[in-house]
Amino acid sequence: MVSEVWVVTSAVLIVALILPYLKKKDTTGNPRKEDVFFQVPALLVLTVILFVSFGNLSYPLFSIRSPMNVAGALMFIVSLIIRLSAHVTINTNYSWTLEIREGHTLVEDGLYRYVRHPIYFGTFIGVMAIPIYMSSLPGFLLCFLAIPVLNYRIGIEERMLIEEFGEEYERYKERTWRLFPYIY
Ligand code: SAH
Repeated sequence: MVSEVWVVTSAVLIVALILPYLKKKDTTGNPRKEDVFFQVPALLVLTVILFVSFGNLSYPLFSIRSPMNVAGALMFIVSLIIRLSAHVTINTNYSWTLEIREGHTLVEDGLYRYVRHPIYFGTFIGVMAIPIYMSSLPGFLLCFLAIPVLNYRIGIEERMLIEEFGEEYERYKERTWRLFPYIY
């Protein structure tokens, strides 16, 4: 099981590193390559959280026995709903790598009315659900490492969106939260 996790992580990492170099026909300009400094730490942080939370990884994946199991499972479902809803709203403007697509429009409705990065927010909630589900305090604390990593990517992403949408994005920034609604 442990070696399987590393195989999956390495495979995802390789795909993530290659993606920005593939020129897509519906993308204008090149995907941001400095995003590599997000992909690598993000996957490492996620893998470490999984290892630390699941210990020897022999814990049954689906087991609702304690209140923490319930809280973690609910958080995970909430995270799925947030991500799904944001995906429906951002639609074809979505991409795994940071890029401006052909006919890219600035999305400001749905969950994007409140927070500028609902998919990252939803993902953070989903990652945090794992140590909560496992009652792992070290895993929970490690989740906070994901915040500077996400912030790094958001910095590149917002600079790119300002280049593309200028004033419109600046105004959008003024009336929305960055990542955590009502916090910042
Ligand atoms: N950061 C967003 C989207 C993630 S997908 C979220 O967490 O929900 C990454 C792509 O989304 C980037 O390439 C960027 O071009 C695009 N993007 C981010 N915010 C956007 C917005 N408000 N409107 C349109 N495209 C956006």
